[in-house]
Amino acid sequence: MNRTVAFIGLGHMGAPMAANLVRAGHRVVGHDLVPAALESAVAAGVLPAPSAAEAVTGADLVLSMLPAGRHVLGLYDEILPAARPGTLFVDCSTIDVADARTAHGRATAAGMRSLDAPVSGGVVGAEAGTLTFMAGGGEAEFAEALPLLDAMGGKAVHCGDAGAGQAAKICNNMILGVSMIAVSEAFVLAESLGLSHQALYDVASTASGQCWALSVNCPVPGPVPASPANRDYRPGFAASLMAKDLGLAANALRAGGIHAELGLRAAELYEQYAERAGSAEDFSGIVRTIRERSTE
Ligand code: NAD
Repeated sequence: MNRTVAFIGLGHMGAPMAANLVRAGHRVVGHDLVPAALESAVAAGVLPAPSAAEAVTGADLVLSMLPAGRHVLGLYDEILPAARPGTLFVDCSTIDVADARTAHGRATAAGMRSLDAPVSGGVVGAEAGTLTFMAGGGEAEFAEALPLLDAMGGKAVHCGDAGAGQAAKICNNMILGVSMIAVSEAFVLAESLGLSHQALYDVASTASGQCWALSVNCPVPGPVPASPANRDYRPGFAASLMAKDLGLAANALRAGGIHAELGLRAAELYEQYAERAGSAEDFSGIVRTIRERSTE
């Protein structure tokens, strides 16, 4: 069934996601604060709205893809009064679990329905329509959103109640951040022991050290030709985004009183690394800072 969808936040991720909804036959009304972002989405068939509130008027579903929790909560305060009662709000941004639960609470208090549905897969996945969605909210809301999620992604997992999608996202990315540091440290140790990158890769990629950070996004050039290390660490998944996600994980660890030394340390290391690398380098480039520090 084709739906009328309001799409707010047409940046690197939102624009290609909205374009895939248009391709699937949905009527997509979009808004972004940056005129150039809105114009590029319009070129892909999105109908422009002069404000977010005007975009949601008459929409069956409202999708948002914004930088952080404060943007989502600010947006919800702006648009909830303008939406039809019962409209389904689906926030795909990566935000704090606590902010996601606050957003759900505000939406339901205003007579709306709500899901958090952050994504994995990056800009490449958004363009190809192969994102993985992890959703939090009710069964009925997930079922209603599913045809749209399927139009933008290859897989959607219903993780539980409000905030469970964000929880899955930050737990997954904490595993990824910690494992990338572990793999990078192992390669730098191998260098000091005279062990070649290829030899370590050949052993660990089929032994108990195997993980995505090693076998897909290998942080040294050579063993995995498609990994960002082979193109001078152009992203990929930018260091700044990993720092952001680990910061969200660290907030949740502290709030929950969880004794997770590696998760907290990984957040610190990526924050320092991202100050230098920003969005220009893939997160696997952290191997270079480990190497530099080791020879200081
Ligand atoms: P982006 O900065 O490119 O896009 C965000 C857009 O939101 C911007 O165009 C901005 O102008 C717009 N915006 C902000 N507040 C607004 C408002 N009130 N009304 C309308 N528009 C508003 O960011 P992105 O890379 O598209 O990422 C979006 C979200 O997706 C983030 O939470 C990010 O962590 C997450 N994410 C990104 C990636 C990635 O690879 N880029 C991967 C997975 C998840």
